[in-house]
Amino acid sequence: MTDTALLAASPLDFASRLIACESVTPATGSVFACLEAMLEPLGFAVTRFVCGEAPDGPVENLHAIRRPAGDPGRHFAFAGHLDVVPPGLGWASDPFEPQVRGDLLHGRGAVDMKGSIASFVAAVADIPREAGTISLIITGDEEGPAIYGTRALIDLMQAQGHVPDLCLVGEPTSVARLGDMVKIGRRGSVNMWIRVAGQQGHVAYPHLADNPIPKLVAILSEIERITLDTGTDWFQPSNIEITDLAVGNPAHNVIPAAAEARISIRFNDLHSGASLTELISSVAEAMGGTVEAKISGEAFLTPPGELSAMIVDAIRAETGLEAELSTTGGTSDARFLSRICPVVEFGLCNATMHKLDEAVAIADLDALARIYRRVVLGALVGTS
Ligand SMILES: [Zn+2]
Repeated sequence: MTDTALLAASPLDFASRLIACESVTPATGSVFACLEAMLEPLGFAVTRFVCGEAPDGPVENLHAIRRPAGDPGRHFAFAGHLDVVPPGLGWASDPFEPQVRGDLLHGRGAVDMKGSIASFVAAVADIPREAGTISLIITGDEEGPAIYGTRALIDLMQAQGHVPDLCLVGEPTSVARLGDMVKIGRRGSVNMWIRVAGQQGHVAYPHLADNPIPKLVAILSEIERITLDTGTDWFQPSNIEITDLAVGNPAHNVIPAAAEARISIRFNDLHSGASLTELISSVAEAMGGTVEAKISGEAFLTPPGELSAMIVDAIRAETGLEAELSTTGGTSDARFLSRICPVVEFGLCNATMHKLDEAVAIADLDALARIYRRVVLGALVGTS
């Protein structure tokens, strides 16, 4: 494709090309080459690198940056991922063969999130280089363990002095219509395994054994009584959910040697994974249990400000909708990026993400490109 053709390329063209590169998590190779081939003619310097080892790697990542010749000005970054979840069986068409049917583009990743990457590339294609610094932070591992993805990209940006001033994450945040929801934070998530050891024995001789089950039940009932908080201006109350209770005792006449339960906590920015682990450990240990915790992600909040206001204004201008600022949903890589600069998430409608026959409205790809363009221009030169 020539440079002129690229400037005229639509988000639909870009999205179709990306969908055609199969990239079940962790993504490598061709899908990155495809994006690189779109960005280089637009003047971006592209760095691709592979990071990590099994079992959570290796992972391929891409950083692209375009700076003005002189003063770098402000630096606006777009973050996203090229990996997709496995398609599953039963699609109406090949999930890795982009297909337009009616007003929709079908294919795995259409909304999560090759479509929004395509819209961003189209959005910046004709923004002049002198406007300011623009970068793309793209990982091949967001849907997987996410150990060597965005975190490695942050290390690279810090080492090269390319930390952005503002970052937009293109996850599919819209619900019923493009532009109805923008995310300014996410809850954190931690899973914990609570174990109680006892002493195995015959049920007819309980004095010779030590049954761990009543102790575990007492610990869980104490945990059930905990109110972590009542929510904040931007977050719903944190919640502890008991997700498993297992003894695995096949015999009716044996007091088991151990019992285990699992809890899952979704928490707001009043807590951290470590503070919650300490709290639950203190309850469990006082009653004879032990706790092992795995923190999936910390909570973060970018308080409403310049970036969210620019996005809300751009959405209003292009769609007439008044976007809701929300912190709902699962974790995303914005949790890592929020450590280096203000981060807001906005993208396509999420109704079909991770599902069979994932599809995006072509009109939404175009509208998203126009919204992104307004946001980037607003951030870089103060006009949209
Ligand atoms: Zn995603």
